[in-house]
Amino acid sequence: MKTIPHLIHGMAVEDSDRSADVFNPSTGEVIRKVGLGTRDTVQRAIESAKSAFPTWRNTPPAKRAQVMFRFKQLLEQNEAKIAELISQEHGKTLEDAAGELKRGIENVEFACAAPEILKGEFSRNAGPNIDAWSDFQPLGIVAGITPFNFPAMVPLWMYPLAIVCGNCFILKPSERDPSSTLLIAELLNQAGLPKGVMNVVHGDKVVVDALIEAPEVKALSFVGSTPIAEYIYSEGAKRGKRIQALGGAKNHAVLMPDADLDNAVNALMGAAFGSCGERCMAISVAVCVGGQIADALVRKLAPQIKALKIGAGTTAGLEMGPLVTSAAREKVVGYVNDGVVAGAELVVDGRGLQVFGNENGFFLGGCLFDRVTPDMRIYKEEIFGPVLCIVRVGSLEEAMQLINDHEYGNGTCIFTRDGESARLFCDEIEVGMVGVNVPLPVPVSYHSFGGWKRSLFGDLHAYGPDGVRFYTKRKAITQRWPQRASHEAAQFAFPSNG
Ligand code: NAD
Repeated sequence: MKTIPHLIHGMAVEDSDRSADVFNPSTGEVIRKVGLGTRDTVQRAIESAKSAFPTWRNTPPAKRAQVMFRFKQLLEQNEAKIAELISQEHGKTLEDAAGELKRGIENVEFACAAPEILKGEFSRNAGPNIDAWSDFQPLGIVAGITPFNFPAMVPLWMYPLAIVCGNCFILKPSERDPSSTLLIAELLNQAGLPKGVMNVVHGDKVVVDALIEAPEVKALSFVGSTPIAEYIYSEGAKRGKRIQALGGAKNHAVLMPDADLDNAVNALMGAAFGSCGERCMAISVAVCVGGQIADALVRKLAPQIKALKIGAGTTAGLEMGPLVTSAAREKVVGYVNDGVVAGAELVVDGRGLQVFGNENGFFLGGCLFDRVTPDMRIYKEEIFGPVLCIVRVGSLEEAMQLINDHEYGNGTCIFTRDGESARLFCDEIEVGMVGVNVPLPVPVSYHSFGGWKRSLFGDLHAYGPDGVRFYTKRKAITQRWPQRASHEAAQFAFPSNG
């Protein structure tokens, strides 16, 4: 069986006997193995990046951008192959996989603007004959650690921008679905990136800890669950590294009594059950303001959830695939069992789903709970599966209090026709990404992505303008060229324009 190698200094590397199984979640079969790196593998990647950095940091930004233009073309040419690999190892549908790739390509497009985004800031005559400017210089070697649920898009949030900023990158993809991530990195090398600027080391905690502990790694971008995000933030920051660690979520959609119900139902179906609920921006709680809208919502949602077209992700035309692993399925089923015991009303039960021809796949049908209360585990914790909970409240203020009290603050949205309610919601809600009649408000590549509270550890959000700041360090330069004839006397007072 093929073992997926690391990619170091432009070459495929197999250097240890540690490996993990990669499943096709639609069939339940092991289809590949992935090599799990060691501390030595990480050191090899660091040495490679170190050797590439001096030349790469001095390569003109326009030349760095040219690599990204070619990379974008290669990604587009290989879309079908990449989508197939994502779907095969993750389980999401081909259309969904192509969608995540397209959003990833938007980050490559943003990186193509390197000469513009790295122009710096300049002030002529900041003092007599003095010019001052801020230069944004690369950090050196930076690393990214990414989750299973977006094997193409989330890595593309990180390294195109880090690399055009002049850094060298080491990526540790998820060990559950590494093939598409590796193929994409190979395409970047094919686009003409010098050897060593981009390296991929597969692995688990061993590799992550080696990256945290290596003094040569100056910054870490992490996306994954909250406990690991917090671990990486605290361990990395302790060692003086720059860290952005994006964690888990519990995203609420508020339905006001005046909402356009049909649009809200369609939006909720996609946002709750797309990718089997395995999205950090998935809507997992619908907060209904008033009993009438809650009753109407349940009436409309239930038949649609029961009719979801579920099957192998690689079969065209489906709406939902399996969960990523058998353990993930068991975990989500455990939450559904727990919700029933806690007294929530299970309106649609997906636990008995059988997919004909794929009986060993990790499938679970869509589930809908009504009358969920904030003390229940199914409300408090991230389920990361196809389970939508309805919470009934009496007012917008109560809905907002509920959301603001939750430990996570990644995404949220409000469905309403009333501008005043929408504006209040946008102003006062304690969440990093907010939609108004938009269920998945994932910012475009020229804004930045990030949650609040325990959904993000660090100061700067991912990609876009915050990404540029994250992957560069500011240097402020103040320069004087005195006229030859003039000699200034020594000044003992603090220099000022006063
Ligand atoms: P995960 O935290 O299990 O794994 C993420 C990465 O951390 C992987 O590369 C994994 O190998 C590594 N890792 C796992 N355990 C580790 C440990 N003990 N020590 C060091 N490294 C470790 O997350 P996942 O299951 O791959 O992804 C799902 C989670 O990611 C969900 O919680 C989801 O909300 C979150 N997520 C968040 C965002 C966001 O932008 N906030 C985006 C996507 C996913």
